[in-house]
Amino acid sequence: MTGDGTRSVRAGIPAPVAYEPTLPGPVFAAHFHLPGEAAGPYTYGRDTNPTWTHLERAIAELESPDESAEAVVFASGMAAISAVLLSQARSGDTVVLPDDGYQALPLVREQLEAYGIEVRTAPTAGDAQLAHLDGAKLLWIETPSNPGLDVCDVRRLARSAHEAGALVAVDNTLATPLGQRPLELGADFAVASGTKGLTGHGDLLLGYVVCRDPRLAARVRTWRKVVGAIPGPMEAWLAHRSLATLHLRADRQAANALALAEALAKRGEVTGLRYPGLPSDPSHRLASAQMRRFGCVISFDLPDRAFAERFLEALRLVDDATSFGGVRSTAERRGRWGGDAVAEGFIRFSVGAEDAPDLIADVERALDEAGAAS
Ligand SMILES: *Cc1c(COP(=O)(O)O)cnc(C)c1O
Repeated sequence: MTGDGTRSVRAGIPAPVAYEPTLPGPVFAAHFHLPGEAAGPYTYGRDTNPTWTHLERAIAELESPDESAEAVVFASGMAAISAVLLSQARSGDTVVLPDDGYQALPLVREQLEAYGIEVRTAPTAGDAQLAHLDGAKLLWIETPSNPGLDVCDVRRLARSAHEAGALVAVDNTLATPLGQRPLELGADFAVASGTKGLTGHGDLLLGYVVCRDPRLAARVRTWRKVVGAIPGPMEAWLAHRSLATLHLRADRQAANALALAEALAKRGEVTGLRYPGLPSDPSHRLASAQMRRFGCVISFDLPDRAFAERFLEALRLVDDATSFGGVRSTAERRGRWGGDAVAEGFIRFSVGAEDAPDLIADVERALDEAGAAS
């Protein structure tokens, strides 16, 4: 029995070696000494790197503490997503995607279709993807969905997908492995961007894929070698270092998110408030059955685009920036990107590790100022 805090600080740390650091520093090597037959674990820097090995062991342990699993780290979340889809699906196969997931999924769809792969889409809410599994090769789930924060039942979808002969991948970026463990819920692949809450400082890009079936892992690993979508050793090392505080960050940010959501729920200018951790949220019951923490992302609508822009401008402790999961709060008007089905005043708010009373006071003042000017 190991708790999340203990696991976060120890995951992937090698056995102690006298006079060596606890977490060995990044290994910068394009090639390794390789006398004779190429039998060693480290040969060439696109295939393997000891800094990745430590990080991969850590991520596998976090995503699958009770059963052995393999992680494969990538240069970004999109590299990891592409690796699963493109290493599994072949021309003539069918893939089911969410229609309300991460904003680059429509680009992925175009690419899959260009390779002769049929793509079906359905919303995350109401497990609507269930109706599209017939004959599918792979089901892609994103829960909670980004940015709408709908939740679907991973166990139920995975069971039906497996009955239909489809593999199941879950994008676990928003929840992080401390919020939800898709492999335990029946998924074949847990996939994520490590750029967000996993590493939490907004200073690196990373992605990963974790699976329990070594044959699936091997295909993903081969894909990485073929396309070369590898993380640099410095990024891998920084990511591993950041995991030590994952538990502290996840707890603090989720507590702050709930406190802020409760404060926002009392504001008349805020509508469509979503946070899976809020007991009144339509997703709360389902989220409670499969999530262990509810994450740090809140979304809501302000009356219109100008109101939302004044609000963002008035915030002092919250940066107007995209992405989420960092220790410093950020918020953005999601409509500025186009592509997401959101209203002009829709705000995606990523709650950081500040003191909740400071954050709530800043948000309430910014709402007051934005409202006074209308
Ligand atoms: C950011 C994000 C990605 C893409 O990750 P990158 O590291 O930016 O490539 C994929 N899925 C979700 C849910 C994300 O939020």
